[in-house]
Amino acid sequence: MQISYDEFKARATAVRARMDAACRQAQRDPATVELLAVTKNHPAAAAEFAARFGLRAVGENRVQEGVAKRAQTTARIAWELIGHLQSNKAALAAAHFDRIQSVDSAKLAGLLGRAATAQGRTLPVLLQINAGTDPAKFGAEPDAAAGLLDAALAQPGLQVDGLMVIAPLSDDPAVATRTFANLRELRDRLTAASGRPLAVLSMGMSGDLEAAIAAGSTLVRIGTALFGERTAPVAPAG
Ligand SMILES: *Cc1c(COP(=O)(O)O)cnc(C)c1O
Repeated sequence: MQISYDEFKARATAVRARMDAACRQAQRDPATVELLAVTKNHPAAAAEFAARFGLRAVGENRVQEGVAKRAQTTARIAWELIGHLQSNKAALAAAHFDRIQSVDSAKLAGLLGRAATAQGRTLPVLLQINAGTDPAKFGAEPDAAAGLLDAALAQPGLQVDGLMVIAPLSDDPAVATRTFANLRELRDRLTAASGRPLAVLSMGMSGDLEAAIAAGSTLVRIGTALFGERTAPVAPAG
């Protein structure tokens, strides 16, 4: 990360302005959409910047990277896991993250729930859904979402806050729009069936936050627009 805090502040202010404009366009209250700073592949200073700007949380997509960075910072900020989580890292992730957005199987929900219970805590989670039916992406298939929700709700150690999606990479903006609408509709159906609010819809990144907010996103995950291009390659690994 090459940027100074002042540069970060200007970028974050510009992102917030994009979010606010998208909210106005959709006739939504800007206070209902949170900005999550994605600090993956950036040093711990990125999390310090986010905290200084007043953001609640940062997102990391690898367990070890997030754990190491958290240990290097004194910033008072929450840490959320947004990348694929392998079973063998579930207990480590449960111990070090404030929320896990990438719960994509009943097996993983069980491992996280039991780990959280053993650690004497309740772990907030989001269920990641492959609502764009992207062969390259992780996430439970939409058909499996109701079963996954049941499995997560059966774990006293978990608190299910809502759903998360990553839109497929595409040159066609309609693909992201359709993906976000799918997730929103799925949430509405799951809420009707389960009686759970599932209030958090984590959708939208630097390139598609407007479409996500139009479709009802309550949390956009922003890396590039805040910190610039990432130097190291980003693999979707736990
Ligand atoms: C990297 C990443 C982001 C941020 O993407 P940008 O395009 O850099 O804003 C958001 N969500 C997930 C799951 C990511 O891995």
